[in-house]
Parts: sequence; structure tokens; C-alpha cells
Amino acid sequence: MDLKDCLKKMEAAGRLSYVKTEVDAVHELSGLCAKLEGGKALLFEKVKGYDIPVTSGMWWNRENIAAVFDTPAEKISALFSSAVASLREQPVAPVLVDNAPAQTVVMSRPDLTKLPVPTHALKDGGPYFSNCVIIAKDPDTGVRNTSIHRLMVTGENRMGILMDMGRHLRDYYERAEARGEPLEVTINNGLHPAYFVAATTPSSAAPLDVDELAVASFLLGEPARLCRSLTVAPEGIADAQVIMEGEILPYVREPEGPFGEVSGYYAQREDRWVVNVKAITMQSEPVLSMLHPGKEIMNGQGLGVEANLLQTIGKQVKGLKNVYMTHGGNHYHVVLQLDPPNEGMAKLAIIAAFAAFPDLQMVTAVNSDIDIYKPEDIEFAMVTRCDPAKDIIIVRGAFGHELNPLVKNNLAAKMGFDCTCPVPKPEEYTRIAFKDVNPAEYKIR
Ligand code: MN
Repeated sequence: MDLKDCLKKMEAAGRLSYVKTEVDAVHELSGLCAKLEGGKALLFEKVKGYDIPVTSGMWWNRENIAAVFDTPAEKISALFSSAVASLREQPVAPVLVDNAPAQTVVMSRPDLTKLPVPTHALKDGGPYFSNCVIIAKDPDTGVRNTSIHRLMVTGENRMGILMDMGRHLRDYYERAEARGEPLEVTINNGLHPAYFVAATTPSSAAPLDVDELAVASFLLGEPARLCRSLTVAPEGIADAQVIMEGEILPYVREPEGPFGEVSGYYAQREDRWVVNVKAITMQSEPVLSMLHPGKEIMNGQGLGVEANLLQTIGKQVKGLKNVYMTHGGNHYHVVLQLDPPNEGMAKLAIIAAFAAFPDLQMVTAVNSDIDIYKPEDIEFAMVTRCDPAKDIIIVRGAFGHELNPLVKNNLAAKMGFDCTCPVPKPEEYTRIAFKDVNPAEYKIR
């Protein structure tokens, strides 16, 4: 199954629209995405000046992605949670295949300007790949790492890259650079979402010595398929639409940015790391895949984060029922639904969530009688069950996400709201309930 098969599945489920009008890759493509965000995924058939189509929006809502996995939308989070759990239980190693579809066409000379890479937000510094899955190997142990990093096209065979603090790729690079060596990578675009889920598995679930591709194997129902690269040691993803082989150069820094980021703000232009692209291979009729900053990231990353928090916190704190990464929270706020067995356990669950996903700025804990997908319900819990004098936790100077403007030198305070009832639950916390009737059975005019 490759991206084109996934598009067919979404089309069959009525979750894909075709954009027939020609669009400009500079601002216009993303402009239309911004207007249609949240709905059916899009396939831009004609991008001005290119003969390669572009797709976006697979992660705009849970229904789109559910169509790919043949799973009801409300079960997607549990499916991803099982995939993350498989890392510890029975990880399935990837396999190497010959005659990879992704290597059908080899560009005679790597030229990124031949690919319809969009310039997304109005102040972006150039065309950006926002969802490529990067594979690298630990310079000491050879363990594979799979992760997603933004890449700005700056020349025919050159890109700027962001490697945020704390990420495994940054760790690999710093050890390679200390030896004066480049870090070789493959940059894979146009993938089955199973690879995206693997690449967004946080390090609390997949530590430095774990190959997160097993998450993709679980979701694919067969080992992830890799191919030997032409010019670098790390493998490419055999069913990718396009693979860029390259090296992140030691000691070289060049301007990268601005870029409209997941935070909802622009990341500023600064000197950052540089990729020298050595080869580009692709399928015979490739489709490029883009991620529109916003709802795609909330769902794309949110589902993975929810799955991971369910796994990790659920092991530490009893009574955890569900986790939701709120859309307004721009991946900085999760709601934990739990019925703590003892007084004070909800506060530990909040602290465990911060430790399991350091990007979080805010965690809200509510009981199982609160609908975590309804902001009104969460507000109800907050104003009736959170006593500000004792139920707000503030952790000062904690490690945070550097793209959040609140975070300075990777540090900011974090805030937790314990909106759970006292244990055992006093009678006055019982919510009003009515007889459960079906309005369709009544004549109402
Ligand atoms: Mn890793």
C-alpha cells in the first residue's frame, strides 16, 4: 500500500476532492487549503509549471484517516495506541526490498526546483517540505531513527533544515559533526500514514536505542519496506513517492525561515543546518504530499501523542480512560479523562503527561462524566471542580517546545488544572441526568 492506494481508499469513502483548476505553488495552493481546511483531503491535479500533482489534508479530520485504516474514526486513537505498544511487546523489523517503486526514476542530476514544493504562508522564506519522513542512522550504534523536520528549498540540491533540541536526529548530527563528518539521511515524501505515525512517536515511547519503524509495521500489517540508497547509508522507504538522498553538512549554517509553524506563529529566519542533496529518485507517476500547518498537525501529531500518553501514563496512574489533544491548544494542551482511585492521583497524572510529552504547556484533568471533546463540558468541570487555591499546578522553568514564543532558551513554566472531583466522589458532584429517549421516535412539528 502506498500513498496512491491511500488516496483511492479516501476517494471510495467520499473523503477526497480533486482540484481541477490550475494553482500556483507559491501561496495559492496553501491559500485554498486554508479555506477548505478540516474537510475532505485535496488532490491538486495541476500545479502551475509542474506535471506532478500535490495532495494535502489527509489529516484534516479523523474521518479522512479512518478511511485509510478501514477503522471507525473513534477507534483510530486506540489503534495507534496498540501500534505504539507493539514497540515494547513484539516489534516487527523492517525488510529490505529490491526494485523499490520509489527508485523507478532516477533524476540524472538532483534538482529540487523540478518538484512542486509549495510556499505556504505569506511570510515564509521559500518553498517548504513540511512532512517528509527522514531516516538516519546513529553514528555510534547504527540504530535507525525516523522523524519529521521542516525543510526549506534553497537551491537545486540544497535545503535548510530545523533539528530542534532534544530530537534524536539532532543528537545523531552532533556526534557526527564532532568527528567532522556529515550525517547521511534519506528524505522520504508521499507516504502511507503508517510511516507518519512511526515518525511522530515521541522519544518517551521510542528511546534513542529503539527503531520506531516497528510502529509502521504494526499499522501496515506487514514489515515496513525499505530500499538500499544509491549514495548514502541510511535506507529509503521503498513505497515513497519521492526519495531525496543527502547529507547534513558539518559546521555549515545558512539562513532558514521564516516559516509558519505548528505554534500558529512564524519561526524566525536564523542560521540553521544545511542538507546537500546527492540523489533524487521517484515513482514513475509520483504525487507529492504536503502538510498544511494547522488541523493537519493537530490530528496528525495529536493522535500519536494521545496514543502514547494513554500507554505511558496509563501504566503509571490507575484510572486513565482517555486523552484528547485539543485543537485550540495547538499541540500544547491535552485533556486527561480519568477517575483517580485516590485523592491526589490526578495531579500525578498531570505531571506524568508533562514528562511524557515535553512540548505540553497545559494539562487539564477531568472525570469520566465529562465529555473531553466538548470545550463547554471542560469549562463546566473547571469552574465547579478546580479550586484555584489548591488544584492549579505550576512547574516553573521546565523544558518546553522551542517554537512556542512563550518558551525562552527551551524553558517556560507549565500549568496543570486538576478539575476532578474529590475522592470518594461526594453526592453534590453528581451531574443532573434525564431519561435517555430517542427524539426520532416522537412526532414533533
Ligand atoms: Mn528515535
